[in-house]
Amino acid sequence: MLNLSGLSSASMNETRHVKMLVLGSGPAGFAAALYAARAELAPVVLTGTELGGQAALTYTIENYPGFPEGVGGAELGELFQKQAEHFGAKVEFASAQSVDLSKRPFKVTSDAGVYLADSLVIATGARPNHLEIPGETDLIGRGVSYCATCDGAFFKERQVVVVGGGDSALEEGLFLTRYASSVTIIHRRDSLRAGAILQKRALDHPKIKFIWNTLVTEVVGNDGKTEAVKLKNLKTGEESQVPTDGVFIFIGHTPNTQLFTDQLAMENGYIKVDERMNTSVAGVYAAGEAADSHFRQVVTSAGMGAAAAIEATHFLEHTSG
Ligand code: NAP
Repeated sequence: MLNLSGLSSASMNETRHVKMLVLGSGPAGFAAALYAARAELAPVVLTGTELGGQAALTYTIENYPGFPEGVGGAELGELFQKQAEHFGAKVEFASAQSVDLSKRPFKVTSDAGVYLADSLVIATGARPNHLEIPGETDLIGRGVSYCATCDGAFFKERQVVVVGGGDSALEEGLFLTRYASSVTIIHRRDSLRAGAILQKRALDHPKIKFIWNTLVTEVVGNDGKTEAVKLKNLKTGEESQVPTDGVFIFIGHTPNTQLFTDQLAMENGYIKVDERMNTSVAGVYAAGEAADSHFRQVVTSAGMGAAAAIEATHFLEHTSG
């Protein structure tokens, strides 16, 4: 778990003026906060509902530089938070409810009061996509999951299916082999999108099998418990049903950017930024998966957060006289 002890608390009615407000507490948000804190901007981070962001839900991160043996996602999140706080960032366990970016200072209304911010870094990340099939929503937490690290341990010696063919599906599928007796990865095509190392590990794993060219069309439950998935083979049209105790869905993400749609230039739901993380409003920056549909790595998100804070620092120097 990330460290909640140092979180400050503001009253609902309080209005606070800050030099920099950071929305989001994943790698991008904490990297921005670290850089801003070291520039003595006393940044405030509103964590959002998921402290640490999606990275904190990953069991092991093997591709963040500096950790040759890998590092736990939650542990890395805690280290990010500690380092930002060490230099003076304030972390508030709260979410933005609405924003007004039409004039400076920018107004952000949160469930911990109103912030007036001279600069804003949006690092609100992304959330997992749903299949949007019958049974899926009803059975969330009753067999349907979007996070193997969170829920895998409930499936000891059980059979599970994983949906998707990208890095997440394979990484999480491999993680599930620690608990489950079998992991069946169901992919809509016959070739995987995931990187070569993960492909080899998954294809060689004795507990993992694949069902190719197949869509999951329904999650079947009984008595509030997942019992099976209905499948359709896209090549033959054949329909079938496979018994399972769990359905782990990893079919991509949607950026958490709804708050900004009418106020910032966007592209396919992602906030448009230039190479310096400038959005279409001067003084507002975006970093990480809210603005990046392409790389979506912990290290690239952290890099974007750092860049955003450096630019914000220059912006404040030039605008504050
Ligand atoms: P992704 O790469 O977008 O893969 C999503 C997968 O879900 C694809 O295989 C896609 O099929 C499938 N899919 C999408 N919509 C579907 C639907 N409605 N029904 C059935 N299948 C559907 O997403 P991701 O795996 O979450 O990865 C996102 C980014 O994070 C990537 O850039 C990835 O490299 C990165 N990542 C990296 C690591 C790592 O480096 N260890 C770990 C996790 C994620 P198609 O292939 O047919 O499109």
